[in-house]
Amino acid sequence: MRIRVRDIRLPLDHTDEEIKREAACKLKIRPEDIQNLTLIRKAVDARRKEVFFTYIVDVELAEGIRIEEALWASPHIARIEEEEEAKLVPGDALLPFSPVIIGSGPAGLFCALLLARYGYKPVVIERGKDIERRIKTVNDFWQKGILNPQCNTQFGEGGAGTFSDGKLTTRIGDKRVEYVLKTMVEFGAPSEIMYLKKPHVGTDNIRRVVQKIREEIIGLGGEFYFDACLTDININQKCLKSIVINNRYELPCSVLVLAIGNSARDVYHLLRRKGIELNPKPFAVGVRIEHPQELIDKLQYGDFAGHPRLKAADYHLTYQDKITGRSLYTFCMCPGGYVIGAASSPGQVVTNGMSYYARDTGIANSALVITVKPEDWEYDPLGGIRLQEDLEHKAFILGGEDYKAPCQRLIDFLKRRPTTSLKGSIATFRPGVKPANLWELLPREFCEVLQRGIYYWDKKMPGFIDGRAVLTGVETRTSSPVRIVRDENLTSVSNPFIYPCGEGAGYAGGIVSAAVDGLKVAEMIIKRYAPPQKAVELRGEEIVRGSLL
Ligand SMILES: Cc1cc2nc3c(=O)[nH]c(=O)nc-3n(C[C@H](O)[C@H](O)[C@H](O)COP(=O)(O)OP(=O)(O)OC[C@H]3O[C@@H](n4cnc5c(N)ncnc54)[C@H](O)[C@@H]3O)c2cc1C
Repeated sequence: MRIRVRDIRLPLDHTDEEIKREAACKLKIRPEDIQNLTLIRKAVDARRKEVFFTYIVDVELAEGIRIEEALWASPHIARIEEEEEAKLVPGDALLPFSPVIIGSGPAGLFCALLLARYGYKPVVIERGKDIERRIKTVNDFWQKGILNPQCNTQFGEGGAGTFSDGKLTTRIGDKRVEYVLKTMVEFGAPSEIMYLKKPHVGTDNIRRVVQKIREEIIGLGGEFYFDACLTDININQKCLKSIVINNRYELPCSVLVLAIGNSARDVYHLLRRKGIELNPKPFAVGVRIEHPQELIDKLQYGDFAGHPRLKAADYHLTYQDKITGRSLYTFCMCPGGYVIGAASSPGQVVTNGMSYYARDTGIANSALVITVKPEDWEYDPLGGIRLQEDLEHKAFILGGEDYKAPCQRLIDFLKRRPTTSLKGSIATFRPGVKPANLWELLPREFCEVLQRGIYYWDKKMPGFIDGRAVLTGVETRTSSPVRIVRDENLTSVSNPFIYPCGEGAGYAGGIVSAAVDGLKVAEMIIKRYAPPQKAVELRGEEIVRGSLL
C-alpha cells in the first residue's frame, strides 16, 4: 500500500534524508520504517519572508509497519490505490487506409504515437522540415531575417512547441497528463518533470524528445513526410475521399486528424470553403515585457534571491480593467529566456518566448496580453485571424519592414512618448529591435488597459516598473482564434471522418494539453476502427520521408 503525505515544508538547504524524516514524523513512525519514498510534487513557497520547498510524497512502509488509525483522518495523509492502466479495445469499423495526421506538433505526435502503439501505422504529414533542417531554417530567420513561410518557429517537426520555453504546466487535470510526462521522460526529458509543480524542459530537451517520438512511430510502422503541406481535402457527400499535398499529390484517406496548430490560417480558409463548421473564439493580444532576471528573482525571493537551489523566478499577474471590462494578464512567462521572432508569413512580426533548460540568459520575459472576443470582430469565424494579421503587419511596418520588432522602453510607454534609442537595452528579440512607439501599434483602448494594468501590478509587485524594462510587439499567437467544431465523438460536426485536434482546433492551449488532446483523438479512432487494411505512401521529389535517427 502507498500512503500519500502532503504539506511537507523544508528550508532551502535541506537534505533528502530530511524529507524522509519529515514524512515519518507526520506518520508517527521512524524514518527506517519507510521502505520507499517517491516525490509526487515539489514546489517553491515564496509567499512569506522566508522561502521554503514544499513536498507531497508517496511512501511505502516496511513489512509489518502500520500507522495509527486516527491519522487517516488527517487532510495531509491518504491511502493511494494502484490503478491499472486501462487497455483500449480496438473497434470493428473498416479502416481502408492508415489514419493520416496533419501536423507533427504535440497533438499530432501524441496522437500518432498512441495509434502506432496499437498497430494503426499512422501517416504524419508535416509542412515544415525535420528538426535538423528546421533549426537551420529558423536560425536563418533569426540571424538574417530570411523567413521560410513553410518552415519557421510555428511550422516544422515538433510544431510550435519546438522553439519554446518548454513549460509543461497545465491546469486541465486529465489523467493522460501523466502519460504525456512519462513518455517525455522515457524519451530523454529530465525525470524531475514528473514531480515539479512547474515542470520545464526548455527547447533543447524538446528537440531531442520530438525526434525520439518520431523514431518510435517509424519503428512501429508509421510514416513521416516533411515538406508536405495539406492543400486540399476531397469530400463527396460527407464521405472523405482523399487529400492533396503541395497542390500536386493526391493521397487516399479514410480518417483525417487535423492537428494543425493555431497558425495554419490557410487551412482554416480551406475548411471554410469545404463547408466544415468553424466558430470564432476569444484569444488575447499584446506585447512582451523583459526585465533583468535578477530583479524578478529579488522581487519574488527577497533575501533568498541567488540561492543555488532556486531556479530563475517566474511570476503570474492578472488585472481586470473596470473601464473597458477587458482582462489583462501575463502569459507564457519565460525566466532566463529570449524573445523570439515567431512569424509564419511574409510581412508579419510576431513575438513569443523561448528558453533553454538552463534558463540562464539573465533576462526574464513575459507576454502581457488583453483578451479579445468574437464581438470585437462581429462574430465572423475568421475575423480573429484578420485582427491578428492587421496587428502583425503593423508591427512589421513599425519594425522597419525587415522582421525587426518595434520596441519601447517601459517608462517611455507609460509616459506615452516614443523611444528613440535602445542603446544598451536588454531587448533580446531575434532578429533585432527598432525603437518605436507601441501606442502606434495597438489600439488606444488596449494601450490604456496595459498602462493601467502595469501601474496596478507595480503596486502588487513593487519594482515591476523598472527603468531597464522594455516592451516588444506584437504578441498575437496566444491561442487559436477559431474553433473547428467537433461532437462527442471528437469528429467535426460537419464530417464524421475528420478529427479536429489540439490547439489549432481550439481544444487545447499549450504543449501538454495539446498532447492530451492528441491522445483523446487517438483513443476515439482506436475504439471505432479496426487497424487499417492498407498503408499509404506519399511520393514527391520535394517531399522528405522521415527516417530513423
Ligand atoms: C515560441 C513559442 C513558445 C511557446 N512556449 C510554450 C510553453 O513554454 N509551454 C506550453 O505549454 N506551450 C508553449 N507554446 C504553445 C505550444 O507550443 C502550443 O500550444 C502547442 O505546440 C500546440 O500543439 P499542437 O500540436 O496543437 O499545434 P502545433 O504545435 O502548432 O503543431 C501544428 C503542426 O501542424 C503543421 N501544419 C499546419 N498546417 C499544416 C498543413 N497544411 N500541412 C501539413 N502540416 C501542417 C505545422 O507545421 C505544425 O508543425 C509556445 C508556442 C510558441 C510558438
